[in-house]
Amino acid sequence: MLGLAAAGCAAAVAGCGASHRAVFTAPRSLTPQGRTQSRTASDPLSRRRVYLGRSVDGRRIYAVKVGDLDNEHSLLVVGDIHGNEPAGIPIANAVASSPPPRESLIIVIKNLNPDGVAAKTRQNADGVDLNRNFPWRWRPLGSRGDLQYSGPRPLSEPEARIAHSLILRTRPQVTIWFHQPLGLVDESGGSISVEHRFARLSGLPLRRLTRYPGSAAGWQNHRLPGTTAFVVELPGGTLSPTRVSRYAAAVRALSRS
Ligand SMILES: [Zn+2]
Repeated sequence: MLGLAAAGCAAAVAGCGASHRAVFTAPRSLTPQGRTQSRTASDPLSRRRVYLGRSVDGRRIYAVKVGDLDNEHSLLVVGDIHGNEPAGIPIANAVASSPPPRESLIIVIKNLNPDGVAAKTRQNADGVDLNRNFPWRWRPLGSRGDLQYSGPRPLSEPEARIAHSLILRTRPQVTIWFHQPLGLVDESGGSISVEHRFARLSGLPLRRLTRYPGSAAGWQNHRLPGTTAFVVELPGGTLSPTRVSRYAAAVRALSRS
């Protein structure tokens, strides 16, 4: 799946003015030999933007894949799921634009809730809390517009379906969901050693928060055993450039472990 996707990307890159060599290496990337070649430092396939779908209000949602695109072990980072907690977006931007790691793959969704960010609301444009809309232990909570309205059914929202589909397709080994404003790493139910490592790298304390029904991280940890999804509650307000750099470096370091 990843190999085919990479080949499709090569064709697109070539069409955008890459060298003729890229044209001829694209089909060979489907062979083991080609995969080896694709890991060179100058690999034009090491950063790729993928269109995932649209929000309720029609805003486009993308992922950026950066690093070794054939690597089956990936780290996914989601900059924003609650629209009024956007501090993770500059971190996700920094990770997406950083030098591609040669031996790992990072998948970045900068903003899973663009309607909520535009409106400065926690919920999406349907008034649903996307972090209560995932299938694991989903139950009806609240009504439209309530802070934790879980939606009419699991995965009723396009943004949740986009993340659900990407995660089942790519099965990231580690996933980081950024929130605000508590300033901690949440013990979310996956590998505590992974969470502890991120806490150490970021300088944020490790704590355990309440686990809510229908959360994205809860669903992942149940649905994909052996992988780890966890919540990072960033501090409130706008992060300083120093903090953005530190947290982005922590994400990159975690992808290499
Ligand atoms: Zn949140």
